[in-house]
This record gives sequence, C-alpha cells and structure tokens, in this order.
Amino acid sequence: MVTRDLLRSLRNDLPMPFTFRQLGKKAPHSKFVEGRFRFQCPNCKEILAAVNPRNNLGHCFHCKMNINNIDLMLQCGYGFVDAVVLLEQWLRAYNSETASRKTTLHPAKPVEKAGQGAEPIGSILRQEFENHGPQADELTGTL
Ligand SMILES: [Zn+2]
Repeated sequence: MVTRDLLRSLRNDLPMPFTFRQLGKKAPHSKFVEGRFRFQCPNCKEILAAVNPRNNLGHCFHCKMNINNIDLMLQCGYGFVDAVVLLEQWLRAYNSETASRKTTLHPAKPVEKAGQGAEPIGSILRQEFENHGPQADELTGTL
C-alpha cells in the first residue's frame, strides 16, 4: 500500500546516488565532483544538477528544477506504481546494506567488553604462570 509515510521515506531515506546505482544504464549521466553527487538534469540535459546531501533532493542549477527519487524514476520512464515498488525494494536493500556495514564498523565494542571481562581471568592466569617468565609476559601483553 502506498502511504504518505512511504513516499516521504522513499524521498528522504534512500540516498539519490544509491538510486542512480540501482538504475544503472537507465540513470542520467552522473559523477562525484568534490564530494558532491552531480548528474545530468533530465529536464534541460545540462550536467548542472546536484544532490543536496542534507535533504537528499536533486536541484538543477541551470533550469532550477528540483528532482527527488520518485521524479527521477518517472523521468527514467517508470510508471508511478512501478517507481514506488522499485524504490521500496531499493530502500530495503539500502537499509540492510547500511546495517551490515554498521556491524562491521563496530567490532570495537564486543572486543572492549571481552577485554574487560578477561581481566580477572588475566590475573588468575598471571598467578598460574607466575614462574614461567616469558609466557606470563606475553599473556599480560595481550590482555
Ligand atoms: Zn536542468
């Protein structure tokens, strides 16, 4: 079901560069210039459209046209319903991609916890290996 919230989410939560990537060859010509995503305006064909990362809205600096994900899909020849269905799939793909990226980006937390939890074990081991010189040093070094 197409709801207002869904449409807002498709416009705001799915970064336009991701939509371009999914569209592949169907998408207008695009490139990153100085960290900004620029693309060929589907309206005037000038490569003077850029995505504002703050509101995820494309804007053409030549003809002043504003273009969001849904507009982009319509410009690429999709019907409204097809556009919404596809964007919804891509938003889900995008969310799972960012979720898996987050888990790989934060291995620090479980490692930290393991380190803290291992401390008493460390002192036990130190006592255990007290007379085994280099081994004990190695253990305290890693813990
Ligand atoms: Zn334009």
